[in-house]
Amino acid sequence: MCCRIDDTMNNGINASVRSLAEADFSDIADRFANAGFAVRLPARGILQLSAPERFLRRPKLLLSVGIHGDETTPIEMLGNLLDALGRTPRALAVDLMVVVGNIGAIAAGKRFLDADLNRMFRTDRGELGGTQEASRADVIMRSVASFFAGADADKWHFDLHTAIRASRYPAFAVVPDIVSAPRREAVLGCLGRAGIEAAILNRSQAGTFSAWTAERLGAASATVELGRIGALGANNIDQFEQARIALDEFLRAGRAPVNGNLPKVFRVKQELVKHSEKFRLAFNRELENFSALTPGSVIAEDGDMVYRVGDETEYVVFPNPDVRPGLRAGLMVVRAD
Ligand SMILES: [Zn+2]
Repeated sequence: MCCRIDDTMNNGINASVRSLAEADFSDIADRFANAGFAVRLPARGILQLSAPERFLRRPKLLLSVGIHGDETTPIEMLGNLLDALGRTPRALAVDLMVVVGNIGAIAAGKRFLDADLNRMFRTDRGELGGTQEASRADVIMRSVASFFAGADADKWHFDLHTAIRASRYPAFAVVPDIVSAPRREAVLGCLGRAGIEAAILNRSQAGTFSAWTAERLGAASATVELGRIGALGANNIDQFEQARIALDEFLRAGRAPVNGNLPKVFRVKQELVKHSEKFRLAFNRELENFSALTPGSVIAEDGDMVYRVGDETEYVVFPNPDVRPGLRAGLMVVRAD
């Protein structure tokens, strides 16, 4: 009742979570270095842990958090995971890279500083090339490309987010549709084990981190949404305990876990691109993700342009009319299984 927000935050989180949120890997780097791992810190907020040379052909797993600065559930989850793993570092059975995305935005408790970092993973950024996020994406892309170098490596990437709004499926994922079919099945199996209830296959690149690692680096990747945005320390991470367990199994077993219920699979039917400031959604902006819209109904209007549902039920995901013109303001998906 009496406390400042800062005190509440500090009481609600442990030192590992706070260090991760501040992109400070000094403690965890020491623990793994002392256990014989090759530890690299290629840039601020990026940690790479590789096994000694005698361990060949371990999977390479990239876990990223904080690409959006106000999405803190994954920071809490990963901070706890790394803390537990750091107590028995030799249990780590993959080559691991951890990326803390938008460090400045996390500190500010904002989604981004200048522009959305999760649209910057491409070479053409138009007028956003001079933003802080464009520079940060360059740093991340260089480090990740170096980590994933080597054609025959078994490469995985989970980019951990939280959604802006409520969702019919509190945990869901977007899987780049360029991931080859057998790899895609492996990703879906792993997501199922993590308690992810819905997966959207997306063909469009859109400059997201996971689409870039899939397309350019051949990673089996997914963007994973765990609940809703909230302040660090105020999240109910127990709700996503199954995701923490699945990641822990991956880290310690050295292979992707399976044996969960497979998520329901959707594919993108249409992308809502905001062409101008006249863009208006036809529904209340609080509508939860995966809400069903009936065939033929209006989804959005943008001046003379009207987005309508096609001839089957479509479900709305990520509606966000506040994006800059030219960017994606939402996805319409249909059942694919
Ligand atoms: Zn996000």
